[in-house]
Amino acid sequence: MSHLMNTYGRQPVAFAYGEGCHLTDTNGKVYLDALAGIAVNTLGHNHPALTSALARQANRLIHVSNVYQIPEQEALATLLAERSGLTEAFFCNSGCEANEAAIKLARLYGRRRGVDRPRILVMEGAFHGRTLATLSATGNEKVQKGFEPLVDGFVRVPYNDLDAIRARRGDSDVVAVMLEVVQGEGGVYVAQDGYLQELRQICDAEKWLLICDEVQCGMARTGKWFAYQHANIFPDVFTLAKGLGSGVPIGACLAGGRASGLFAPGNHGSTFGGNPFACVAARATIETIEAEHLLDNAIAMGERICGELAERLRGVSGVLDIRGRGLMIGIELDRPAGGLVGKGLAAGLLFNVTHDTVIRLLPPLVFGAAEADELLQKLVPLLREFLGSEIQEGKRP
Ligand SMILES: *Cc1c(COP(=O)(O)O)cnc(C)c1O
Repeated sequence: MSHLMNTYGRQPVAFAYGEGCHLTDTNGKVYLDALAGIAVNTLGHNHPALTSALARQANRLIHVSNVYQIPEQEALATLLAERSGLTEAFFCNSGCEANEAAIKLARLYGRRRGVDRPRILVMEGAFHGRTLATLSATGNEKVQKGFEPLVDGFVRVPYNDLDAIRARRGDSDVVAVMLEVVQGEGGVYVAQDGYLQELRQICDAEKWLLICDEVQCGMARTGKWFAYQHANIFPDVFTLAKGLGSGVPIGACLAGGRASGLFAPGNHGSTFGGNPFACVAARATIETIEAEHLLDNAIAMGERICGELAERLRGVSGVLDIRGRGLMIGIELDRPAGGLVGKGLAAGLLFNVTHDTVIRLLPPLVFGAAEADELLQKLVPLLREFLGSEIQEGKRP
């Protein structure tokens, strides 16, 4: 009998080791990893730049308290500030914690402006985590059900809908808008550039904070360091986690402009957050993304995969949409697709399904042309079979 709490419906496979974009299970079977631990293993598995940096740091210093100076944390904050255009970072251990920090910043910002009951506009279909505040900000009743009463202070609006935002203008309780630049769990929906640009203008005019949750879409996955950069805007606050440490747990909340300088000692903290080991993992991730040109690679491989999928699935009924940005790709079917995950396992391919009908691909950013072709070779027949299009094709005159 398992002594684990029943929080995951797990696939019947355990992995023994990984190399690059492949994982080997405990029976010796090899799989192509097109999930990367849900956008976590940025550098794939066993990348020497990461493992050597971690081994060196483990031999030197793993953890010290945040009551001391931590040069590795300072260095990482500088790397993130230089790449994001924001000016200050708080480090934690996960995405929900990074979002908790962002939500606390927004409340503090509002209260400093004399708003007694600050409210944050959040999106339908959003996912921000599973702590009480972040599940309350999440736009999915399944995540919330059973955990009421929810945390107050969130107002839900439809995604990519400027009229819904405009309708809130002048509401003196609103202090911020929080959104994923590409919704991940919600089904891989991309915020339109024009939407983000006008959202930026409205936030400036209303003095609202623009908070971007980049936990899944950030860290080079979409081909820019941060997905908001596609729209040429700056948020006031954004959050990172998943891919930041290539598998070593670390999250970050970045702030700039009117969102900077809000926290003072005693307002927020984390015992583990930003320890030297985790910060070295993030630094090695950033340096390797640059050394190996993984931003360009994400764009090139994303285009290759989406283009080939569109080509090879043309006319296959049941495929509603192929969308995404860089190496964050969704294939929406007209039916529940959960059954495909097990078929993928059998075929030696790892991906997942989100929002019931959307096949989600989040491969490591070191995914090259050979891996992209292997993915297509495995996934396309699987999809055709699942959708019954082989039979349809055979019937064609
Ligand atoms: C995964 C995710 C989170 C939560 O991250 P955890 O590390 O699981 O707490 C928050 N926001 C987004 C957009 C995510 O994809």
